Amino acid sequence: MFELKANLFFGGSTAELIRQAVQAYKDRVKEEDCPHCGRKMKIDFFEEVIYTNVGDQRVEILVTNIPKHVCHPCERMVENLKLMVAIEEEVDRVIRACLKNREPFPKQIDFLDLIGMGKADLVPTQ
Ligand SMILES: [Zn+2]
Repeated sequence: MFELKANLFFGGSTAELIRQAVQAYKDRVKEEDCPHCGRKMKIDFFEEVIYTNVGDQRVEILVTNIPKHVCHPCERMVENLKLMVAIEEEVDRVIRACLKNREPFPKQIDFLDLIGMGKADLVPTQ
């Protein structure tokens, strides 16, 4: 379903969808308040293991530098589900490309490399 939409609107580029999700996320960052205490949230970078199945083989890929909203005073984190779905789709795409080209799967993917952005692009200067 997701890839269908990507094909429809972006010529099959899920990377473009990710960039759009990131842009929307960036635009929202400044006015994002913690749902718990109401204070402004910050962006920190996290890593997550994405699991996917290739035939009956389970593949794990560590995705690093995933931006998330965090409230430091109360240590709450807000997940960006749209972004996570886009990342999973992109990991799937990378794996399919590896299969096609008979290349080994990457153990690790840097999210910032994936979208061609740096940390400074995501974290607004105060
Ligand atoms: Zn809070």
